[in-house]
Amino acid sequence: MVPPYATVLVQDALPKTLKRRTLYVVQEDGFEEQAAMICPCGCKATLQMNLLTDERPCWRVTQHGDGTASLHPSVWRKKDCKSHFWFRRGRVKWC
Ligand SMILES: [Zn+2]
Repeated sequence: MVPPYATVLVQDALPKTLKRRTLYVVQEDGFEEQAAMICPCGCKATLQMNLLTDERPCWRVTQHGDGTASLHPSVWRKKDCKSHFWFRRGRVKWC
């Protein structure tokens, strides 16, 4: 079985190059600011999900005891590859 996505917490800014199969959570001043990953469809786009509750759209990241994470709600790219998937416990579930 393919291992789940790793979860990486970074301070202030995303690294210049993102690794595949990794969910990045950017924290700034103790707040979760955004989550990011390389699009799982293979198009190589960087997907960025806002985590700040006063901006829309807004996602919530849940970190689990096994090191994986989940995103809520689903991720839906309205342009380009139009990927639409749920990210649960480090795994991509296509819609
Ligand atoms: Zn894509």
